[in-house]
Amino acid sequence: MNIGNVKLFPAALSILLLTTPGFGEECPHPPRGLPEVLALAGTAKQAADSVPPSTPLPSCTQRLAQACSRLSSAPAGIISRNPSGLVRLNPTTLTRDLPADARALLEVANINPGNFNMGIVPLFERLRSTLTARVGAMPADSAVRGALLLRLSKLDLRVENFERCTRETQPPIVARYADGAVLICPIMTHFDPIEIASMLAHELGHVIDLCDEGYPQPPVTAGFPFEAIHACASRTTAGNAGLRAEGSPPTCDRDGELYADYIGTALVSATLRPSEFSSDPVDAAIQFAGFRLLSACYPSGTYAHFGGPILQSGLAQRALACSGVDIPTACSGVVEP
Ligand SMILES: [Zn+2]
Repeated sequence: MNIGNVKLFPAALSILLLTTPGFGEECPHPPRGLPEVLALAGTAKQAADSVPPSTPLPSCTQRLAQACSRLSSAPAGIISRNPSGLVRLNPTTLTRDLPADARALLEVANINPGNFNMGIVPLFERLRSTLTARVGAMPADSAVRGALLLRLSKLDLRVENFERCTRETQPPIVARYADGAVLICPIMTHFDPIEIASMLAHELGHVIDLCDEGYPQPPVTAGFPFEAIHACASRTTAGNAGLRAEGSPPTCDRDGELYADYIGTALVSATLRPSEFSSDPVDAAIQFAGFRLLSACYPSGTYAHFGGPILQSGLAQRALACSGVDIPTACSGVVEP
């Protein structure tokens, strides 16, 4: 079925193993996804958008610890179902540990096309629209403007059961950008769209990554979307630890995943409102962070990779009602659009 240029592949076409290395490579870090746990009464949603709290906020690190604590006491697999049948999955559950009811959602035959077409696709289009507007605002003589506009306009969002959707030793929620399409796993069609917003935005960050196909020497172009991030990712001076090695030559010798996290977080901040996330800040943290919590909650993970870009966003801090005082940063202060 199709909506515009967004296609939901029928089951027979959904199994696709993508092996192209480099461009379109699967994100090697903890798979992105944003399930939440049971929503509790909390800060009024409207207040989350604008009214600064009068009491001291916990730090975002403390907020994450609360999220981890909540998830550690939640059941594996499906935590709850809402009245419309969407599920909340514990984002720290590995595929091998999924109970049968959750495991069934891995099947292509059980995709939720209604939620995909009516919920996930519109959210993706909001994010794409924001990014397209930013690219379109670049100077007309920009060397990359036309190419990026074309890339964005032709971009597909598809549900496909690619290899990483069913790895037993990882969570089953994965997105990737490959061959002109953003792909999500079948189980993700069962989630509230807001829970995969950061994940979709991360993939859109890959879409405009000039280190991808065609731009081996990325120019720092005036007016580039979220230019400060792009400049930070491309420069060789101090203050960009994690994105590029200090003093490295002007090539693509940087962390494309972290770049996508920065761009994606800025894109979420420019597109969504805090009130679109759970009014309970711990639930909002889980929605925002999703499967990054697998690394944030367990010692084997890489906190800096998770926490820096995501939680230095002003939107994240408002939605999570937390202070960013102890968030490690690479491109400090550049996330907020
Ligand atoms: Zn990625």
